[in-house]
Amino acid sequence: MKKIDYLVIGQGIAGTLLAHELSRQRRDFVVIDPNGHNASKTAAGMYNPVVLKRFSPVWQGKAQILTARQTVAELEKMFNTTLDNQLPIQRLFHNAMEKQTWSKKALDKPLDELLDRRFIGSPAAAIYAPYGLGTVNFGGRINLPKLLAHYRQHLAKQGKIRTALCDYRRLKIAETHVEYDDIIAEKVVFCEGYGIKQNPFFNQLPLNGNKGEVLTVRIPHLHLKAAIKSKVFLLPLPEQGEDIYFVGATYHWTDKDDRPTAEAKQALLEKLRTFVSADIEVLAHRAGVRPTVADRRPLLGQHHIHRPLYVLNGLGTRGVMLGATMAKQLYQFIEDGMALDPAVNIQRFTRQQEE
Ligand SMILES: Cc1cc2nc3c(=O)[nH]c(=O)nc-3n(C[C@H](O)[C@H](O)[C@H](O)COP(=O)(O)OP(=O)(O)OC[C@H]3O[C@@H](n4cnc5c(N)ncnc54)[C@H](O)[C@@H]3O)c2cc1C
Repeated sequence: MKKIDYLVIGQGIAGTLLAHELSRQRRDFVVIDPNGHNASKTAAGMYNPVVLKRFSPVWQGKAQILTARQTVAELEKMFNTTLDNQLPIQRLFHNAMEKQTWSKKALDKPLDELLDRRFIGSPAAAIYAPYGLGTVNFGGRINLPKLLAHYRQHLAKQGKIRTALCDYRRLKIAETHVEYDDIIAEKVVFCEGYGIKQNPFFNQLPLNGNKGEVLTVRIPHLHLKAAIKSKVFLLPLPEQGEDIYFVGATYHWTDKDDRPTAEAKQALLEKLRTFVSADIEVLAHRAGVRPTVADRRPLLGQHHIHRPLYVLNGLGTRGVMLGATMAKQLYQFIEDGMALDPAVNIQRFTRQQEE
């Protein structure tokens, strides 16, 4: 039998950043993940401290971004590559009122350091922006597929990844450890994203899931250097080539599979054409399910009966910003007995069961 400290189930952004934290803390672990499709590989990878619909600050946004950037910088150094693209995010104003609201909100804390007070005009002839654009500070994009692929390779070199689905029926749970095939782990942390629905230990948590679809497009001669947010995001993907962009995303609450649909493609293109007048060639179309929670906060904590079992999930629409902070917080809770923020602790949903 192989004795380890942690078994991590899932290698999306949550499982990857937890594995990185365990490595930093010199803990021994194995990750199990089928290496299939997941939300993290679908995501645009944007981080942005402002809710751009109503110009309000994201919960703990700036602090999370600083932690995320620091963590990604560690990974960039490990893999000797670029993962963090600190490109400006520009909000296209739809009318004069929006611009006024931005100006007003940019005067007071905490938005004064997040919303740039200087406005800019349309960055390209093909972009329709009669009211101009405002720039968000501290925004950017992490290349998640690249980060996940590098990390998986790194784990494989150390014999720390198993390409499989965890079969929950094979987990033999004792008071102080869990056995799984040839592994004895002191703790198991489940990071399965929407896959939590199949997990008999944590599937009662109110994780609803929200399907999102995105396009990769080519728009010749646009030459954008910043991400533009109008009715959809338009985001340059320089690593994929000149004038290749990401367009997203849709939000669907009832459909929960990861198959792209013709309706979503049409909706994305219609929204894109409200501010881009140029030829648009669709190169790819992907879908994924975001692990969203009813109260929009992550799900961290320990199983109320099976004490070696833990969960790290519910990163919702903001896995990039939340991932590193939540992985660190869960680690400190498990190892150092530090209290979890009540806003993310699963006890907010399970307390009744415990009593
Ligand atoms: C279209 C779209 C656009 C998005 N854009 C952004 C964005 O710009 N910025 C942002 O921050 N977030 C974005 N998100 C949200 C982001 O994708 C999620 O917050 C994040 O990816 C969740 O990560 P996760 O690791 O929890 O889940 P996932 O990435 O889904 O990973 C879970 C992993 O667990 C594995 N798994 C499941 N069950 C098992 C099992 N039984 N055994 C072993 N492994 C298992 C799965 O195969 C998967 O690899 C977007 C999401 C979508 C769908």
